[in-house]
Amino acid sequence: MSVLVHVNNLTKYFPVHRGMFGKEVGQVKAVDGLTFDIREGETLGLVGESGCGKSTTGRLILRLLEPTAGSVTFAGQNVFEAGSKEMRNLRRDMQIIFQDPYASLNPRMSVGDIIAEPIRLHKLAAGPEVQKKVEHLLSCVGLAAYQARRYPHEFSGGQRQRVGIARALALNPRLIICDEPVSALDVSIQSQVLNLLKDLQQEFGLTYLFIAHGLNVVKHVSDRVGVMYLGKMVELAGDEELYQNPLHPYTQALLSAIPVANPRVKKERIILAGDVPSPVNPPQGCRFHTRCFNCQDVCRHHEPVFKRIKPGHWVACHLVREEI
Ligand code: SF4
Ligand code: MG
Repeated sequence: MSVLVHVNNLTKYFPVHRGMFGKEVGQVKAVDGLTFDIREGETLGLVGESGCGKSTTGRLILRLLEPTAGSVTFAGQNVFEAGSKEMRNLRRDMQIIFQDPYASLNPRMSVGDIIAEPIRLHKLAAGPEVQKKVEHLLSCVGLAAYQARRYPHEFSGGQRQRVGIARALALNPRLIICDEPVSALDVSIQSQVLNLLKDLQQEFGLTYLFIAHGLNVVKHVSDRVGVMYLGKMVELAGDEELYQNPLHPYTQALLSAIPVANPRVKKERIILAGDVPSPVNPPQGCRFHTRCFNCQDVCRHHEPVFKRIKPGHWVACHLVREEI
């Protein structure tokens, strides 16, 4: 598989001000030195608790935010150095699906117009061709042609997410960033939307960065999974490998929280101490050390390097040694 997106040392700090117009008193280290690839045609899951920087990472890749440092390369093009013409092409190739489809769909536009808007903006079709394209996209996501005349409030949550997916597909993108696309949906609807995303990936040859809260959702869709904690990637591996052989204590804790289907399989739940520390002035050394059950002295003072332990498996932990 070739590399579609290369993320190198990607960093985003947000300034923190005292009061609305006060002086800068600190920085939120939202994303701090991420390096990873997204391969053409795969689904890379990106997992971590709220505030770990996963959504910020998605927005940086799309250049909805400018980075503090680092680069993103999409199909050989440096995203942050793209001029307006290149950026226009990149905007076609990279799309996003949001967690809350209701908030991302204009309530005053019919669903047909919502899906047609990017097609018209990018001049992909004109006249009656637009309508045909919209109807085709609706059928791709399992909605009927007549529903184009309806408005977002007339749809259920799951249907609205289908509309959001149809809009994302309208420009025939190569990459879709799925930012917690099922977290706001009922559990019974979640798997329908996940299956739809999988089918569309096959049909359209899509690459996904699939952002989620917990490992249980990405388990069913990801080829590889990256785990983030406080702006850092702590582990990255193929999905089988990560679920069978998690090496970072944080990944182990996240996995232990997933209920097992077979009650005879005994599983110790790892309860982490305390809460996630603030990303403003995060802990020195290993950022996870305040909650880690394996913490040693070295962990408090030295930051572990994100290193390859074996082919395809990367971990940032002092206690994990490279396998030769
Ligand atoms: Fe825990 Fe130390 Fe590894 Fe950090 S480096 S995860 S504190 S054992
Ligand atoms: Mg988020």
